[in-house]
Amino acid sequence: MLGIAQQAGHEITPSADEAEVLVVNTCAFIDNAKQESIDAILEMAGRKRDGRCTRLVVTGCLAERYREELKKEIPEIDALLGTGEVPQILEAIDARGAGSGVRGAEYGTRGANSGQPPAPVTFFRKHPATRIPHAAPRTPRTPHPARRVVPTYIYDADTPRLQTTPRHFAYVKVAEGCDYTCAFCIIPTLRGEYRSRTADSIVREARALAERGVKELLLISQDTTFYGIDRGDRGALARLLRDLNRIAGLQWIRLLYLYPTTITDDVLDAMAECEKVCRYVDLPLQHASADVLKRMRRPGNRKMYDKLLARIRARVPGVTLRTTFIVGFPGETEQEFAELEAFVEDTRFDHLGVFTYSHEEGTRAFALKDDLPAAAKQNRRERIMKRQQRLVAAAQLSRIGTETAVLIDGPSAEHELVLQGRLEGQAPDIDPVVYLTDCDPSSLVGGSLIKARIVGAQGYDLLATPV
Ligand code: SF4
Repeated sequence: MLGIAQQAGHEITPSADEAEVLVVNTCAFIDNAKQESIDAILEMAGRKRDGRCTRLVVTGCLAERYREELKKEIPEIDALLGTGEVPQILEAIDARGAGSGVRGAEYGTRGANSGQPPAPVTFFRKHPATRIPHAAPRTPRTPHPARRVVPTYIYDADTPRLQTTPRHFAYVKVAEGCDYTCAFCIIPTLRGEYRSRTADSIVREARALAERGVKELLLISQDTTFYGIDRGDRGALARLLRDLNRIAGLQWIRLLYLYPTTITDDVLDAMAECEKVCRYVDLPLQHASADVLKRMRRPGNRKMYDKLLARIRARVPGVTLRTTFIVGFPGETEQEFAELEAFVEDTRFDHLGVFTYSHEEGTRAFALKDDLPAAAKQNRRERIMKRQQRLVAAAQLSRIGTETAVLIDGPSAEHELVLQGRLEGQAPDIDPVVYLTDCDPSSLVGGSLIKARIVGAQGYDLLATPV
């Protein structure tokens, strides 16, 4: 949307104070994300009321999910765009017609799990006068086939792009949508059916990004190992990795969001053989108890996951494993939770995130009773994270003294005199980082790939010295 607006002559500013038009891009997949989105919209609606901007546009998943409610409850909103309406951004930000050159600010919100208990169901709690009618939920929607809208949009290599990440890394969406029906998940309803981009489109975009100085590509989608399968092309992801591996200038290619039943040996072999493809498997498993997984409409059980992870570790030596779990799914017993704890203890994931279950209307799980109190869900989350912290501390001690490649991200957000970087096994924003000690911060720019010795650990993060 930023690229399309910029190409049409609009000026983008990161400061709401300078903007004529405000665009709030929202997330809506769990309570915390919806709350963050609503707070951002209300804050910007206040600016519109005060006359500090002329137009307010809301885009993304919240607009897709609650279009009518938002229109009715927040009259300051001038236009709403769902997930499939990206090109319509021009009409939305400028009612006079495309290209008349307004100055707009984009305000993104996203749904990182903040670790807080789910917000109360009235998620407009700061402004009780404007309330989405959560108290009278609509009939639960099933993702298939009763989808209300079917977004089909997906961008390609010719879509203008404005990069908002640091110059040296960029996210590339390889597909959009999802064909699974996980009981807790609203995403297929909001994003539509799975549709892969062509390899040619992705490779062309990757080449253009590499020419602009991007060193690390992060390939994303709702389910990256499904890439190509919607077009009947089962080996597409491995071939794509090998094609991207040949692009000059790129140093790391990282896959995010893999699915347990579609991780094929050819993808693992490409990961092991291609020097630029990070040996990094981000595999949200959601749970380990067979009964909970069944209720979640997820495949597998503990035995299958043990086998899968052993296969991944055997085929990709030195692989970093990242996963996420949901605790407090309806009916999760203490015994089922204990199965998850045992799985975490035995598997020793390198990185692990835990979400507390969020009861979302429109999902299949909404028909179940959300029977665990927020405090109990939070307690289970903390129990897993405490266990993981102990496992990570032990793993980090064993790294001290080893030498490894570090991609420099730039000055640390906390201490600008300290440089911060990442290992091959650390993705930006979601994983811990490496702080460089004994190093002149002006000597290395973001995107430099250096060799460093691990000299210590600080919580989840590592300390290293260039060699
Ligand atoms: S695979 Fe992921 S995006 Fe698709 S339904 Fe399941 S959790 Fe949602």
